[in-house]
Amino acid sequence: MTVESDLSLKPGDVIGILGGGQLGRMLAIAAAQLGLKTTTFTPDANAPATDVSKFQIIADYNDQKALKRFADHINVATYEFENIPLETLYSLETFGTSVFPNIEALKITQDRLLEKTFLTEHSIPVAPFFSIGTLDDLEKAAVTSGMPAILKTRRFGYDGKGQVRLERNSVLETAFDAIAQQEAVLEAFIGFEKEISVVAARGRDGSFQHYDLSENIHHNQILYQSFVPTDIPAPISELAYDITRKIADALNFIGVFAVEFFYCGMTSEQPLIVNEIAPRVHNTGHWTLEACCVNQFENHIRAVAGWPIGQTHRHSDAVMTNLLGADVMKWSGLLSDQTVKLHLYGKSDVKADRKMGHFTKILEKTGR
Ligand code: AMP
Repeated sequence: MTVESDLSLKPGDVIGILGGGQLGRMLAIAAAQLGLKTTTFTPDANAPATDVSKFQIIADYNDQKALKRFADHINVATYEFENIPLETLYSLETFGTSVFPNIEALKITQDRLLEKTFLTEHSIPVAPFFSIGTLDDLEKAAVTSGMPAILKTRRFGYDGKGQVRLERNSVLETAFDAIAQQEAVLEAFIGFEKEISVVAARGRDGSFQHYDLSENIHHNQILYQSFVPTDIPAPISELAYDITRKIADALNFIGVFAVEFFYCGMTSEQPLIVNEIAPRVHNTGHWTLEACCVNQFENHIRAVAGWPIGQTHRHSDAVMTNLLGADVMKWSGLLSDQTVKLHLYGKSDVKADRKMGHFTKILEKTGR
């Protein structure tokens, strides 16, 4: 099925979702609540989204026949994670299927070098960074950046994967080998006070709404907890929202996305530094499921469907905690806490630090 970009979907239409993880699962649930159907495209027959989407296509992302079949029975396509090959999306467009968010936005945000260059071109502060293609590049960059610093692969990194922290005594060759000598960026280490993020939605008509920013706690570089409200000073929050909107407009982004920031303190020369843009619904926005009128997953579906963005205002204070690896065993105890809403992703293999589920504790009503 083909769809013109200005033609809104109708209940009963089908949204194709590339990727079958927990984000795809929660997107499929949100779509179903709006009377829309979903087709999950994933290489993994047991992926969490396959439990809840109406149709599934189990195939590799470069399987052209499967992509044609996918394109033929969906009205519009979206993606739930940024490591989908660009060629997959180009194929869908060739088959006449519109993809939201647009492919250019994914191209920039799935590559740390392109993303940091894009942000710099828009006068948005990022950590000082250097493009690394060879060991020689790394040796030169290490001298200029100073230590500590972080070496990150340009692509396919998430949750701290594809990253090496460098100290003054680190052997650069060993660090470069640790990321398999892939193209990378070297980033100066930022001594931040807090990590915060803004999740926002932009509709096909360019309308923009953001959720309240959350503070995020990481363990082993993996998100552990996000909470709202924060004690970030109001001018900094406003700055974070302005930057988020600027990014959305510059990318002509359609859908929900997140901007992760380092907050370096009011007296810092640069109080806010963008760490990264996630071109999709985000773990630090899971609290919106319980604490907001229209949550991030529904707003993504609305945006992709060409429907108006729903209200993002927060009616409750909330703390979201990830259930990583064996933490998932706590599920039955969590059920007896009446202030907790539990989400399990249906993953059978428990692996260390794997995101198995999350729970949100609703603290109090804001009265708004
Ligand atoms: P990332 O995958 O880039 O989001 O990095 C994962 C985590 O590593 C972040 O949430 C931070 O806690 C930490 N981190 C990443 N980059 C930097 C940096 N330049 N300076 C300090 N900490 C960092």
